[in-house]
Amino acid sequence: MIEENLIRVKASIPEYVTLVAVSKTHPNQAIEEAYQCGQRDFGENKVQELLEKANELPTDIRWHMIGHLQTNKVKFIVPFVHLIHGVDSWKLLKEIDKQAAKVKRVIPCLIQFHIAKEETKFGFSMDEVNELLQSPDFQSLDSVQINGVMGMATFTSNERTIRNEFNTLKKYFEQLKNSFFKNDAHFSILSFGMSNDYQIAVEEGSNMIRVGSSIFGSR
Ligand SMILES: *Cc1c(COP(=O)(O)O)cnc(C)c1O
Repeated sequence: MIEENLIRVKASIPEYVTLVAVSKTHPNQAIEEAYQCGQRDFGENKVQELLEKANELPTDIRWHMIGHLQTNKVKFIVPFVHLIHGVDSWKLLKEIDKQAAKVKRVIPCLIQFHIAKEETKFGFSMDEVNELLQSPDFQSLDSVQINGVMGMATFTSNERTIRNEFNTLKKYFEQLKNSFFKNDAHFSILSFGMSNDYQIAVEEGSNMIRVGSSIFGSR
């Protein structure tokens, strides 16, 4: 089933879009099945689960931390994580920088924006990000690399709402690119789109989608 699902999702997106297979709550066996099909990018949202899986699965898997990350857990994933999607506070970014320096890595991060209507979703506003990126404190960090933006649309069946929110995120990306990252080729990732909305996301400019249930089944 996983193989068919992967093929179907891959066939429905352009080649430049990176598919992160969100394997949270699913067992290693499911990940291995996807791995056998050539999938290498996997997303998890809990540190403990990510650590256990990374410990047991092939070392060439690119692990994406997609969930809300607590500062006290950063140190556990920094030695191996491929990309941290959910950077939603200055405190977190500073901690990633500190822990990354200790293991002599530069960690690719995405700025998470709050674009949805739900209060429960995490993320910055554009004003906060502008302020952050201008601050000397940010400029002094040298073990994190801001590679783009991430966001989650409102959970709704209203396509127009979703489309508008993704469009906003795309605009934020472009504004930040122009203002702060013009000559920085690393700043190139737009991470938005999940099982229910990844088609809309790609139409609105996403180049990295995070898809769980459409690949591994419901949780
Ligand atoms: C769970 C999760 C996904 C995947 O959700 P599906 O609806 O199963 O595709 C994507 N992004 C984040 C941040 C998630 O927590």
